[in-house]
Amino acid sequence: MAAKMQSRQIRNNYVLIVFDSCRYDSFQRARPKVMRKLGPVERRWAYASWTAPSHYNLLMGIMPHSSPKNVFASEYYQKDFFKFNARLGGSGIEFKSFVPRLYLPILLRNLGYQTHAMVSLPVLNPTTILNTGFDSYSLMEKHNDMRAMLRRMSFSEGSPSFYLLNVGETHYPYALPDESPDEWPRINGVHGVFKHLDEHIVGGKLRRARSKVFNTKKLADLRQRQIEAVKYLDSVVEELFDLAPQNTYITITADHGELFGEDGYFGHGPIQHAKVLEVPFVEGKLR
Ligand SMILES: [Zn+2]
Repeated sequence: MAAKMQSRQIRNNYVLIVFDSCRYDSFQRARPKVMRKLGPVERRWAYASWTAPSHYNLLMGIMPHSSPKNVFASEYYQKDFFKFNARLGGSGIEFKSFVPRLYLPILLRNLGYQTHAMVSLPVLNPTTILNTGFDSYSLMEKHNDMRAMLRRMSFSEGSPSFYLLNVGETHYPYALPDESPDEWPRINGVHGVFKHLDEHIVGGKLRRARSKVFNTKKLADLRQRQIEAVKYLDSVVEELFDLAPQNTYITITADHGELFGEDGYFGHGPIQHAKVLEVPFVEGKLR
């Protein structure tokens, strides 16, 4: 009992931030000053090209991968799970700690964590199977307001907290919370797809008929909007740094990338292209 109490006290709070659709090079072009303080920004690869499977993967505790050569997958996974000793603080966590549920919130709960998720995209809503092992799980009112998530966060000294934050400012239409929907870019065709599929799936090969709509300038503007979203989010993350206690470990990554016209593709999802998997990855402990 005493040992358990002690181990609880030394665990870090853990915050996993997922910038939805944020491509690696958009993140780098934004040159975020605050987020870089966590550690080196790595280019990594998501296991899936769209939101739902990618979040399932993240919630298994499997982060976007670094694509190492001459290594068996099992060895890579072992190392990836072992990394949770640094993230959570203390020791004793390995692949078998996740067995048999293979779900991070369940493991964290067993370690005495309070587990919370705040998500922006309806495809991750609280009635999905992703909501397992969470003490609270909510779909945010607006799809693009990370600052509203911060207002709901609290940390207690008695038990460590885990937060999953699925952030939508970087998702199409790359809008900041104070921007009126009237000013959002209107994309013929894709906007229709977006609406029709309940605002959570964007993607597909551009048809010849639509190529006029997807002119180079418009796509460049959209990419610039995602870069601006990252710049803005850097200031929100700064507020998180002020809010969270010192013993908080933060991982910032994306669930998948985004295409901005390369080889005739826009968005993500039903796309087979390297850029749809390229994501930023940076993590570290506050100090
Ligand atoms: Zn997504």
